[in-house]
Amino acid sequence: MATINENYLKLPGSYLFAEIARKVAKFKTDNPSANVIRLGIGDVTRPLPPSIIAAMHQAVDEMSNEATFRGYGPEQGYPFLIQKIIDTDYIPRGIHLDADEVFVSDGSKSDVGNIQEIFGLNNTVAITDPVYPVYLDTNVMAGRTADLGANGRFGNVVYLSCNAENNFIPALPAAKVDLIYLCMPNNPTGTTLTKKQLKVWVDYAREQDAVILYDAAYEAYIQEPDIPHSIYEIEGAKEVAIEFRSFSKNAGFTGTRCAFTVVPKAVTALTASGRRQPLNPLWNRRQTTKFNGVPYIVQKGAEAVYTAAGQHQIKELIGYYMANAKVIRDGLLSIGLTVFGGVNAPYIWLKTPQGMDSWAFFDKLLTEAHLVGTPGSGFGPSGEGYFRLTAFGNQENTREAIERIKTRLKV
Ligand SMILES: *Cc1c(COP(=O)(O)O)cnc(C)c1O
Repeated sequence: MATINENYLKLPGSYLFAEIARKVAKFKTDNPSANVIRLGIGDVTRPLPPSIIAAMHQAVDEMSNEATFRGYGPEQGYPFLIQKIIDTDYIPRGIHLDADEVFVSDGSKSDVGNIQEIFGLNNTVAITDPVYPVYLDTNVMAGRTADLGANGRFGNVVYLSCNAENNFIPALPAAKVDLIYLCMPNNPTGTTLTKKQLKVWVDYAREQDAVILYDAAYEAYIQEPDIPHSIYEIEGAKEVAIEFRSFSKNAGFTGTRCAFTVVPKAVTALTASGRRQPLNPLWNRRQTTKFNGVPYIVQKGAEAVYTAAGQHQIKELIGYYMANAKVIRDGLLSIGLTVFGGVNAPYIWLKTPQGMDSWAFFDKLLTEAHLVGTPGSGFGPSGEGYFRLTAFGNQENTREAIERIKTRLKV
């Protein structure tokens, strides 16, 4: 008789986006003439830059010719892409990586979800709160947590609250933890850590023999000088951190699918007998067994991100979204709201006015201004009382949305 993985039943239904869709559909039925603008979208909307499209077209043609056709590629990614990643994203920041420390994949979502497989079930996980739900949910599925409590928190998980009171700088955990998920710049808060603040975590991981799983999906949005783009800019991080990067948000690959994960050979964890085991060969074994590589056509597209034209074009893309972020931020500040993020990230995190809960503010924004955003409580218990707006819409809609907030929202 087949039985299920009971851990899946610990997960609540994905209430957040279903509930948003339900409320928006009802509002549209009741108000058929209303022009609803979505500022809740967590996906890019601009098309792929021309140099990427040209490279992929050429790769398609190569696939049509016996002499240049490609079948299975290396599971870890083609060397042509890995070398460009190292030379462009890391060497200029003084970070030296070997080619076999970089693993190209079909997305950071898969990698941040799968990475926990190489760690024992007895590890204690720490996550910042609020955060991207994948880190927590994949650990629940694996059985690394207890049940969901009435307080909205899973047992055996250390939640690191990030809120206005601590300026979105997570405090070191009081009890010992083994795996620490950090997402900087952060989704959903749009906040990040300076080099000095991140060093506190690297030092902690070194002292405690913990491993940091560092999601840098929004690294390209960083504008301020003192913010690390890679955790390996921090001294000693190569022994304690795995880094996740993606082409989704910097180059528009959300539907095209390409990312990479850096697992330095110096990062280790302990075996049951207390021996120090490098994690790199374990991840290599996991990927070569369960993953068959990213399409050649897609990797050629990703390679074009690193040409001079590609770099220029993705800068323009990021500039477009960050101009939206400024419009949103300035607009909200001008009506006296308390606002975080939007400076080094495409996310704006606002404190709901008059202590409203996140869903009450959702309803207010929808009914008074015909705008859709995302309730902060959907990203974790510490998101209650906050609300996320994103800069991924088009410029016209974003401007119109902020005009409405200024003229129609009663705060
Ligand atoms: C969008 C996003 C990613 C990227 O995921 P892909 O699977 O590469 O598209 C990773 N982490 C966070 C926090 C994100 O918001």
